[in-house]
Amino acid sequence: MHESDVVVIGAGAAGIAAARRVAEAHVPVVLLEARGRVGGRAWTYHAGDLALDLGCGWLHSADENELAALAPKLGFPVDAYPPPWSRPAYEGNFPAAAQNDYWRTWERFYACVDAAARAGSDRPMSDCLEPGGRWNAMLGAMVTYINGAEAEKISLREYAFYHDSGVNKRVRRGYGALIEAYAAGLDIRLNCPVTLIDHSGARLRIVTPRGDISARAAIIAVPPGVMANESLRFSPALPDKLAAAQLPLGLADKVFLRVERPEDLPLDTRLAGSTTTRETGSYTLRPNGQPMIEGYFGGEFARTLEHDGQGAFAAFATEQIANALGSDMRKRLAPIAESAWARDPFALGSYSYGNPGAHAMRAKLAAPVAAKLFFAGEHCSAADFSTAHGAYRSGVKAAEDAIRALQVQPA
Ligand SMILES: Cc1cc2nc3c(=O)[nH]c(=O)nc-3n(C[C@H](O)[C@H](O)[C@H](O)COP(=O)(O)OP(=O)(O)OC[C@H]3O[C@@H](n4cnc5c(N)ncnc54)[C@H](O)[C@@H]3O)c2cc1C
Repeated sequence: MHESDVVVIGAGAAGIAAARRVAEAHVPVVLLEARGRVGGRAWTYHAGDLALDLGCGWLHSADENELAALAPKLGFPVDAYPPPWSRPAYEGNFPAAAQNDYWRTWERFYACVDAAARAGSDRPMSDCLEPGGRWNAMLGAMVTYINGAEAEKISLREYAFYHDSGVNKRVRRGYGALIEAYAAGLDIRLNCPVTLIDHSGARLRIVTPRGDISARAAIIAVPPGVMANESLRFSPALPDKLAAAQLPLGLADKVFLRVERPEDLPLDTRLAGSTTTRETGSYTLRPNGQPMIEGYFGGEFARTLEHDGQGAFAAFATEQIANALGSDMRKRLAPIAESAWARDPFALGSYSYGNPGAHAMRAKLAAPVAAKLFFAGEHCSAADFSTAHGAYRSGVKAAEDAIRALQVQPA
């Protein structure tokens, strides 16, 4: 049996931040990761000279985000070009007047969301859609991109806790690559899924197919579904952590298509797949000036396309783009990569959201157990949930709690 003071489970943004903080305190720490790579839902896929973020791509709240401050020090210059959603979309299939009308409706929708949230309402977000509204389908699609779930499933009260400074930036080399670089130098065991944490004795016994590890404390930084479906179990069982199913991960997926002769497409510009149905992708033409189109899908529609199998996102995106930009796009587009986060057994979705009634869940999931088990991950963050910097912050906090607990415990 191996021994360590602290074992961190899951090498996503949360687990990496936790392990780094523990290592900085000169406490022995090992980081166990189920996959053959680090980063989790932060994953930059390299296709030739293209850096494609299949998971997180935007440094949200960039003016407050520790990872944005860290990026240049790790060799990742931060690109200050404003995000495409803050500029007009392609007008060919979505004329300027219609875009203005849509954004006015969007502002009314969010004013309602904010007011209901401030009032502590636990109603679903869909209550803020105007009955029969012209833009309901498009607003509904946008809600699935932002939250990974349909407005009917999202609690206004839960959503109200989310903090966003409104400043969004990117790193051209990829957000996933940045998180990976941040893990350099840590003691990491890849391909090492933890199946059981036995916390019945004075020391923890952490069970993996590559052998058991004995530790004084563990920081568990895996997505909540992994605990809810018990592919990672606790002995004795922890009912509060099992209840994680009430705080599900919503679903967002991306597809990347290389485009031939990209020069005739506008730079870094949004293209609406459709303005009349919720079952649509949203596209960015030439993101970061790269010769490709990025498609984004959310909620149940993303789940359906995942279910249809590899290639379904690319096929759907190609049709929508050809309908909007002309049929010759069919010949000019070639799929490069697509995600399937719900099918991934170590993620089981993209980012967490709260169902009505679930507002207390994040605190329950984050609560330490017996000063030995500490929990981290975006789902544990009270105000920055669903983001990579929220995951990072939760990891730092869990590490500091663990370090404090070890100082008062006998070794
Ligand atoms: C499509 C998409 C777009 C996104 N866009 C953005 C964005 O623009 N900006 C932003 O800030 N955020 C975005 N996010 C969210 C962000 O990626 C996540 O919130 C964040 O990366 C989660 O980090 P985490 O450490 O909590 O979890 P994860 O990254 O999921 O890390 C958990 C780790 O635990 C491992 N693991 C699971 N089970 C076990 C086990 N039994 N034993 C050992 N290891 C295990 C996993 O393999 C994984 O590496 C996006 C996510 C997706 C999917």
